[in-house]
Amino acid sequence: MNMTRPSQPLCRGCGQSINGYYLSALGAAWHPDHFVCATCHQPINNTQFSVREGKPYHTQCYRDRFDLRCAYCHKPITAQYYTHNGASYHLECYQEHIGPRCEYCHKPILGQYYTHEGAFYHSECYRDHVVPRCAYCGKPLMSEYLVDHWGTKYCKEHQGQYPTCAFCGRLVPPQQQDPQSSEHVRCPICRASAVESLPQARAIFQGLMQQLNAQGLQFNNVPLQIELVDRARLAQLLNGRSGVDALGVTTHSTHMLNGQVVRTEVNGIAVLRGLPSTLFRGVCVHELGHA
Ligand SMILES: [Zn+2]
Ligand SMILES: [Zn+2]
Ligand SMILES: [Zn+2]
Ligand SMILES: [Zn+2]
Ligand SMILES: [Zn+2]
Ligand SMILES: [Zn+2]
Ligand SMILES: [Zn+2]
Repeated sequence: MNMTRPSQPLCRGCGQSINGYYLSALGAAWHPDHFVCATCHQPINNTQFSVREGKPYHTQCYRDRFDLRCAYCHKPITAQYYTHNGASYHLECYQEHIGPRCEYCHKPILGQYYTHEGAFYHSECYRDHVVPRCAYCGKPLMSEYLVDHWGTKYCKEHQGQYPTCAFCGRLVPPQQQDPQSSEHVRCPICRASAVESLPQARAIFQGLMQQLNAQGLQFNNVPLQIELVDRARLAQLLNGRSGVDALGVTTHSTHMLNGQVVRTEVNGIAVLRGLPSTLFRGVCVHELGHA
């Protein structure tokens, strides 16, 4: 911008000829009072001014009008900023007021995050504290995993890698396998309630008989015996009568006359040793149905 002595140029502002000093700016001459800011319409007396689309602005007016402003606090943005959905924010404004917070540590999240059930998490917070862990090997289950009937979550790869419990079907990892039982793979839960001893079996069986009697079910007058047997003995008692997966059988006493069987009567139940107690009950009830 220069102040120049006249030869009667025309003012770009008002279109009139200029007598005296004029101002030369943006490739034109102006009455000094007619070179005005496009925002506040006051004359621009400073040699520093801003231009946008051919229009002059006071430097401050230009900043107020066009500079990047924080969509949260509306103050100009001069340093680092964050853009989200087309709006710009001071980094701090975004972190404190706009951006997601980690559901676990409650600190702001910038950059990568995980969402889980509508909540946001830092990737690390999610991996270390939120994600379920494999019930068998303890690894975080970040992607696909399996859930059994009881809600146990585990890595896909264990399916087929570990044997399943003969009684409930749960996977049984090596560290949970039963050193005592060579007859069947048994999970710790089934093992904990296993009926292993005769006193245990009798107590459950008598309780069961009382329950059934209370419901009006009557059995023959002979007091029924309960017996715990291994697989080989059970197979012998079954004598091929039932499938290999049979878990119990009724036992009989035989009445003979002159070497001929005249009558057999049920005198008890034999059940595979080591069944979980609920299964043991089930087998007893089923066999009592045959009695
Ligand atoms: Zn003018
Ligand atoms: Zn202005
Ligand atoms: Zn701000
Ligand atoms: Zn966090
Ligand atoms: Zn696992
Ligand atoms: Zn089991
Ligand atoms: Zn049966």
